[in-house]
Amino acid sequence: MTLTRRGIYQADLTDVSEADKAIGSRVCPFADESKNEDEVAAEVFEPSMPHDSRIGKYKGMYAGRVTDDLVIPGSSSGGITSWLLTRLLERDEIDGVVHVGPAESQLFGYVVSRSVDEVMGRRKSQYHPASFAETLKQIRGDGLRYAIVGVPCAIKSARHVAAEDEVIAAQLKYFVGIVCGHLKSTAYAESFAWQVGVAPDDLATVDFRIKNPEKTSRQYSFGAKSKQTGEWREAETLSLVGGNWGHAVFQLEACNYCDDIFAETADVVIGDAWLSKYEIDWRGTNVVITRNAVIDEILAEGVESKAVGLDVLDTDSVARTQGGNFRHRREGLAVRLADDDAEGRWHPAKRVEPGYSHVTPDRVEIIRKRRSLSAQSHGMFAAAKEADELDVYLDAIRPLISDYQQETKMAFGTRLRNKAQREFWKLAGKFKR
Ligand SMILES: Cc1cc2nc3c(=O)[nH]c(=O)nc-3n(C[C@H](O)[C@H](O)[C@H](O)COP(=O)(O)OP(=O)(O)OC[C@H]3O[C@@H](n4cnc5c(N)ncnc54)[C@H](O)[C@@H]3O)c2cc1C
Repeated sequence: MTLTRRGIYQADLTDVSEADKAIGSRVCPFADESKNEDEVAAEVFEPSMPHDSRIGKYKGMYAGRVTDDLVIPGSSSGGITSWLLTRLLERDEIDGVVHVGPAESQLFGYVVSRSVDEVMGRRKSQYHPASFAETLKQIRGDGLRYAIVGVPCAIKSARHVAAEDEVIAAQLKYFVGIVCGHLKSTAYAESFAWQVGVAPDDLATVDFRIKNPEKTSRQYSFGAKSKQTGEWREAETLSLVGGNWGHAVFQLEACNYCDDIFAETADVVIGDAWLSKYEIDWRGTNVVITRNAVIDEILAEGVESKAVGLDVLDTDSVARTQGGNFRHRREGLAVRLADDDAEGRWHPAKRVEPGYSHVTPDRVEIIRKRRSLSAQSHGMFAAAKEADELDVYLDAIRPLISDYQQETKMAFGTRLRNKAQREFWKLAGKFKR
């Protein structure tokens, strides 16, 4: 896997034999030769486990967070991911964790943590590309057991690797999924850092999810550190150009073909519980779906010891935590597939049928604009880097964003309803206290 100049990992097929290409296609999460999420889930989970077409197979469904308010600011959301990983280590279920953290040659990449301190030192969401190719080679055959953490396509791919390679299969004991809206190129971190005053070649490190006790959990900030001066700069993410996830700047093209929101092949999947009731709490709240008895047991122990607090959710509430994701990955995907078919472009076979009949013509327009905005953002940022001038990117992307924004303006009634819901839960919280 090589990182392209635009900051995206791509398989380099130079000198690769036909036999190896065939293996590559069987492990690639977006190739027709690889099994889809339903096929993998049918192989790895108990047949009796219930299934929902929106969220995949499920055992337990929860919303919650770790209870230690001194620890939680170090996590992106409710901190359940890192807590669960440390419990797997402490219970001797695993010897290490393959996950994403600060790396040597990149801002972030896949690394191996072997202690609770290392796991806790590599918290937070990294909206940055990462490949586990080298990391899996590094651990292969060392006789140790691991949990691997990844966005849905990474987990599906790790399952495919395990199906091809019995050594890796024996070592990867737990597959921990992270809910994903879409993955970003390296330009996402760089463009934000540049906007707060740290140029790409001066960028030492970033924090994508800084919490603010005065705000809601959605109103997190971005921070960047300069290599030269060591200075730390911050801004609220939503105030930055491209800070709204719906605009999909620097989204990878593969994400246009993803229909897996809840990492359907993972033993457990964890995301943000974007429901008004939880969103108002600055600490962050996870949505969690379990598909593994040991994970269920660990969560039950956590509730018992009061290390974590969990509400039980139903399938509808779980799906509601990812409204935008469903619009992009199910409704939007059907439109993109139909557009590809109409234009004679290849696309991978998906679980979603191509078509337009499920959405209004206005919605079709929005889906197309988002795809175009996201595709153009890569070149615009590359031109800005070439010219060493941030405005080259900002001046080019702003009109596209404002045009898109115009189309997607939430109806007044919907805005009012969402605000009323948040106010209700704030009041309810005060009474509880
Ligand atoms: C690219 C991306 C897009 C996301 N989109 C959504 C979304 O649309 N909706 C939603 O609800 N949630 C989304 N999330 C998940 C969310 O941001 C939190 O990561 C999740 O809620 C877990 O929070 P936590 O507090 O439990 O994790 P923490 O305790 O902060 O731990 C995070 C763990 O995830 C690992 N990690 C971080 N980044 C990556 C990565 N890129 N690949 C693999 N492992 C990683 C870390 O190493 C750490 O172990 C996304 C995450 C990523 C990385």
